[in-house]
Amino acid sequence: MGNFKNTEKNEKRSDNSSFKGLGDGETGYYGIFGGAYIPEILHGIVNDLTEAFYKIKNDPTFKEEYYYLLKNYVGRPSPLYFANRLSQEYGTKIYLKREDLNHTGAHKINNSLGQILLAKRMGKTKIIAETGAGQHGVATATACALMGMECIVFMGKTDVERQFLNVQKIRMLGAKVEPVLSGNMTLKDATNEAIRYWCSNPDSFYIIGSTVGPHPYPEMVAFFQSVISEEIKEQLQEQIGRDYPDLLIACVGGGSNAAGTYYHYLEDERVKIISAEAGGKGIETGETAATIHLGTVGIIHGSKTLLMQDEDGQITEPYSISAGLDYPGIGPMHAHFAKTGRTKVYAINDDEALEAAFELTRLEGIIPAIESAHALAILKKEKGNFKSDDIVVLTVSGRGDKDMETYSRHFDSSKQNDKK
Ligand SMILES: *Cc1c(COP(=O)(O)O)cnc(C)c1O
Repeated sequence: MGNFKNTEKNEKRSDNSSFKGLGDGETGYYGIFGGAYIPEILHGIVNDLTEAFYKIKNDPTFKEEYYYLLKNYVGRPSPLYFANRLSQEYGTKIYLKREDLNHTGAHKINNSLGQILLAKRMGKTKIIAETGAGQHGVATATACALMGMECIVFMGKTDVERQFLNVQKIRMLGAKVEPVLSGNMTLKDATNEAIRYWCSNPDSFYIIGSTVGPHPYPEMVAFFQSVISEEIKEQLQEQIGRDYPDLLIACVGGGSNAAGTYYHYLEDERVKIISAEAGGKGIETGETAATIHLGTVGIIHGSKTLLMQDEDGQITEPYSISAGLDYPGIGPMHAHFAKTGRTKVYAINDDEALEAAFELTRLEGIIPAIESAHALAILKKEKGNFKSDDIVVLTVSGRGDKDMETYSRHFDSSKQNDKK
């Protein structure tokens, strides 16, 4: 989106840069990050969207409709499960927030449903979305089938070929998959194409799948995912008699499951927060998606954030074993949390994530998504810091069915686990 200029209006907005916690960041800035760097033609649409979002945000009738679906369609609340054997292994008390048990297998459905209800209220009938691995495409096509809405999913041609099963699911759900032939034909290119389509079809509603993109998307997606920490509070209260943990852990691709997990705890200093980003083959190898470790300030997809780019501002192609984490940018709020020290961030490499996935499976009988396994790998990094009565809450963002091919390629290297 190098050609998207920062407009005068956005410059003015950036004066008001104090971050007041998620939920009332109405400027769209998180420290120096965020904003809405969009072409002139989208201003009206994005303003309408912002207005509509802040209107429904505290509207009890919207909440009722949304929570009805979360309960009866998605299957919420997702369990907060005390992982006994995993806790013994790490000498602390570990609770898993089971987003893997949601309908469609991950947290993404929470956001797609929230946005589609908003689209409906705005009188929109056509939905567009971008997808990389296809998970957001499936969640959005699902929501569109449920609401009887037309849906186009933009997907890089390389990804269309790599993610056959999700492509077939999206088609079966009645959505159209639009293969994108520009650039490397992956997520970044699909997003560019979706934005281009949006410019020429302003009547469509663009459902973005993570806490990325121009304001109000990061704020809105975080809000729709905030049900995760809302439930954690209630569930901890019920299970241990206090509503906060000592430590929260989540993986960060664009940052939506993490934002939802942290949302209601950001201003609670008793709660430490650690995020996992994808180290790929190692941050020094060039084959990585460790945006917070390696990124510099720039603009991608309408938002100022940290991104992996070369000296000319050309975006570097990210790499990770997990398709859901290899985005060259990062949600602006997470760039801010990391820069201000609110979150500690580890880059977790492919092999560490694989090991953690096999460990959880053998200890608890839960096969996690490879993205979630990056969060699980933090346990080993932090083992030396745990106290036996610490309460650790870790979000398992999705289930591992989609990653079985990846996992089965590594059965041999997990032989040590067999001996346990
Ligand atoms: C998409 C995805 C992610 C990464 O997206 P975030 O917006 O960072 O949450 C993580 N886990 C799973 C299972 C996913 O499908």
